[in-house]
Amino acid sequence: MSEHKIKVTVWNEFRHEKENDKVKAIYPEGMHVAIGEMLKNEGDFEVTYATLDDPEHGLTQEVLDNTDVLFWWGHGHHGDVKDEIVDRVQKRILAGMGLIVLHSGHKSKIFMRMLGTTANLKWREKGEKERIWVIEHSHPIAKGLPDHFELPHTEMYGERFDIPKPDDVVFITWYEGGEVFRSGVTFTRGNGKIFYFAPGHESFPIYYDPNIQKVLVNAAKWAAATINRDSGCPMVDPLEEIKSSK
Ligand code: ZN
Repeated sequence: MSEHKIKVTVWNEFRHEKENDKVKAIYPEGMHVAIGEMLKNEGDFEVTYATLDDPEHGLTQEVLDNTDVLFWWGHGHHGDVKDEIVDRVQKRILAGMGLIVLHSGHKSKIFMRMLGTTANLKWREKGEKERIWVIEHSHPIAKGLPDHFELPHTEMYGERFDIPKPDDVVFITWYEGGEVFRSGVTFTRGNGKIFYFAPGHESFPIYYDPNIQKVLVNAAKWAAATINRDSGCPMVDPLEEIKSSK
């Protein structure tokens, strides 16, 4: 356990768990709590929860200023996220906060805002097997993982995934039905690090899988803010005397 804990805020729509009995049975307190408790048990993290139906979606300026890395799980209610909150989160990412976007968060306003593309993909919900291949073993997010690991039942997300070229493709997934997908990709925007990780469909117990948990822990450590700096766009005086000035 390190002395300085990484401040994580786990954001979740937290509606599927209330509306769907199958999801509720897997995540009785919500996916955000399953992820957050796992991170707390790991020892290096201080965890805050925020959900869509909290005032300001739980993402007040104070919460964001005290967040090193924000997890985002959204699915059916992206449109209910207020644009002013998306503006606020974007500003904080550009200043240095990390963002980890999970599963259906690919269509969240904040992810599309940060990427500038549609993030569209192919999908299928048959509960098929998924094999995740580690592409960059030296990447901090892949630390301690085997060459590949499997999830017995997942939702298929297939290429082409409409994202800009990532900084790193850490994972590529193969699905039983034949598709492939860049399931773990990183981006840098301003001072902020972004990681998208595809597994996490709500009706399967994916966030209890030890390899998936390892990815989330590694990603939180990798993406955690090292600075909070909005450099602005200042006019500056020269450092040296300018002799050619007219
Ligand atoms: Zn899903």
